[in-house]
Amino acid sequence: MGDEEQEGIFLGIDLGGTQLKAARFSANGTREAMENAASGAGGDAEEIFSALCSTASTLIGGSRLRGIGVGVAGLLDPGSGRILNSPNIPALSGFALRSRVREAFGDKIFVRMMNDANAAALGEYFAGAGTGSSSMFLLTLGTGIGGGFVIDGNLWTGAAGVGAEVGHMCIRADGPLCHCGARGCLEACVSGWALMRDADQIAKRDPKSAIAELSPRTPLSLAELASAGDRQARALWENAGAMLGTGIANLMNLLNPDRIVLVGGLGGAGDLLFEPARRAWESQAFKEARTSTSVKPGVLGEWAGVRGAIQPFLEK
Ligand SMILES: [Zn+2]
Repeated sequence: MGDEEQEGIFLGIDLGGTQLKAARFSANGTREAMENAASGAGGDAEEIFSALCSTASTLIGGSRLRGIGVGVAGLLDPGSGRILNSPNIPALSGFALRSRVREAFGDKIFVRMMNDANAAALGEYFAGAGTGSSSMFLLTLGTGIGGGFVIDGNLWTGAAGVGAEVGHMCIRADGPLCHCGARGCLEACVSGWALMRDADQIAKRDPKSAIAELSPRTPLSLAELASAGDRQARALWENAGAMLGTGIANLMNLLNPDRIVLVGGLGGAGDLLFEPARRAWESQAFKEARTSTSVKPGVLGEWAGVRGAIQPFLEK
C-alpha cells in the first residue's frame, strides 16, 4: 500500500445555483484533480444529489476517502446536517445532506458543510489572498453579495451561524427593496441582480438607449458598454461602485481587518466598479482604518470555495 493510499484523500465540493465544482485533495491539502458539472439545480433534490455523487465518485476513483466538505449557497443547520433554506437551489431546502453523504460514501468519513461564502473565505485565507494575514473579510460580488470573516484562522459565524451576511448590511435606509424584505441592503444596491434591475428600468424608460438594445443584457455586457463610453451604463457602474465603497468603509471602520478580499463575477468590471468604490472608502473610512486594511482581489477564482470546504479536515 502506497503512502497516499494510507493517508487517503479529501473531496471539496461547491454546490451552486448553476454549477457543481469539486476537487480531490491529498491529505496535506494539495489539489490533485478537478471536476466541473451542471448542478442540476432545476431538478429535484434527488437529481441534484445524484449529480453530486457521480462527480464525487469520478474524483475518488480507487482512493481511500477520508472526508467530504461541501459549500452550499444557503442557510445550514450544523447540528442536524440539513440545508435549511437555499434561495438559489430551492429544491434542496430541508435536504439532509450530511446523513445522505455518509449513506452514499461510508459512515466513517468526515462530512462538513458550510455556507458557500464562508467556504470561499477559508479558501482565500489559507491558500489565497489572505495568506499571512491574521484577519480577513471576504466579499463575494456575484448575482448576490455574500461575506465570510476569518479571524486568526477561525470563521466568525456568530451566535446563530448567520454572521458576516454583509450583503444585507444596510447602505441606504430608504434604498431599493431587497430580496430579504428589508430596504437598501448592499445587495439591493450593488449585486448582479440590482444592476440588472436598474438596467431594465432604463431600458423601459428609454427604449432608444444603448442599454435597451443590449442583448444579452448582463453585468458583463453592461461593463463592455460602459467601457465603450456609454454615459448611462457608466453611471450605473459609478453608482454601484460608490455603494460598494460605502460598504467597504463600514467594514473598515467596524472591523479594521488586515485584508478585505473581493471575489466574484462583478469584479470583471474592473476599475468601472473599483475606482468609484475606492473614492468612497477613502472619503468615508477613518484614515487609520483605511491605511491599515488592504483591499485585494481573490487569487483562487471560482475554486476558492472548493479549497475552503476541506480546510476543517486539514486541522485534525
Ligand atoms: Zn437584504
